[in-house]
Amino acid sequence: MSRLFFLARRFVAGESLEAAVDVVRSLNDAGLDVTLNMLGEGTLEREKAEDAVRQYLVMLDLIREGALQANISVKLTHLGLDIDEAYCTDNLSRILEAAKERDIFIRLDMEGSPHTQRTLDIFYTLYDRYRNAGVVIQAMLLRSPHDIFVLNKIGARVRLCKGSYRESSELALQRMPNIRGAFLSIAEQLLKDGRFPAFATHDDYLIEGVTRNAERLEVPRDQFEFQMLYGLRPGFQKEMRARGFRMRIYVPFGTEWMPYFYRRLRERKENVWFVLRNLVRR
Ligand SMILES: Cc1cc2nc3c(=O)[nH]c(=O)nc-3n(C[C@H](O)[C@H](O)[C@H](O)COP(=O)(O)OP(=O)(O)OC[C@H]3O[C@@H](n4cnc5c(N)ncnc54)[C@H](O)[C@@H]3O)c2cc1C
Repeated sequence: MSRLFFLARRFVAGESLEAAVDVVRSLNDAGLDVTLNMLGEGTLEREKAEDAVRQYLVMLDLIREGALQANISVKLTHLGLDIDEAYCTDNLSRILEAAKERDIFIRLDMEGSPHTQRTLDIFYTLYDRYRNAGVVIQAMLLRSPHDIFVLNKIGARVRLCKGSYRESSELALQRMPNIRGAFLSIAEQLLKDGRFPAFATHDDYLIEGVTRNAERLEVPRDQFEFQMLYGLRPGFQKEMRARGFRMRIYVPFGTEWMPYFYRRLRERKENVWFVLRNLVRR
């Protein structure tokens, strides 16, 4: 284990797949579903992208053999999107094919805006063959209501989140009340016309808003899910499950945890305090 991993321990299940599988089991035992993600992004070496594909294939076997309630999220820049689009498409289709054979769902995480269109292009290219694939839409992006309209039309499964990358005001809403408003309006589009949408947020205002909308639109609680990140609001995750909501936890693992860890610190000052407190305690 790397010397600094203790810093990220709250947000990252471990540096090895074995450590992550232990976490998946204990979350499953508590009635929570999981999305497994091997950390890694911005890969510029084919060897690394191919290693990621190999590891994802091992994960698919482990999920099936271990009867884990888990699916997988991948970042396309981890699979070579910044090397070559066709190469990345090929890598992703190897994962999707193996996942389809094992009846496992694969989510394409959404990265910063230079990758938005290319991620959606690859998704649309493969979606006809692989209905076990879904994407993520970021409420803060101005383009998102249109993207949702198209995705709903083809029956694609969407995870809606606020968006965790810094974007310019030409491309994205900047103020929290506006981002929340966009989230709830897109959530309504998804509840009305989407297929098993996922609402990824720790924000009570949004969780209550989505819950109220689902009740008003008479969408049963097993027709959508909430998603939260590993290590954030663990007590509340179980409470939501006890209230009858489907709750899926995003569990990242691996040695390349720094960019993910940095995004978590940037999002919320309480996360920085948490890390600093642990640093002092050591
Ligand atoms: C499962 C999952 C998958 C994601 N996938 C992507 C992706 O593919 N692409 C992407 O760009 N982003 C992704 N994100 C990140 C997302 O875009 C946001 O950056 C992140 O979730 C922070 O926004 P928030 O709505 O959760 O709450 P924030 O905006 O961080 O906080 C808003 C309010 O929520 C409450 N709150 C938040 N955290 C806590 C806490 N720990 N304890 C108590 N109250 C809290 C507080 O009231 C707070 O004021 C994902 C998030 C999740 C949960």
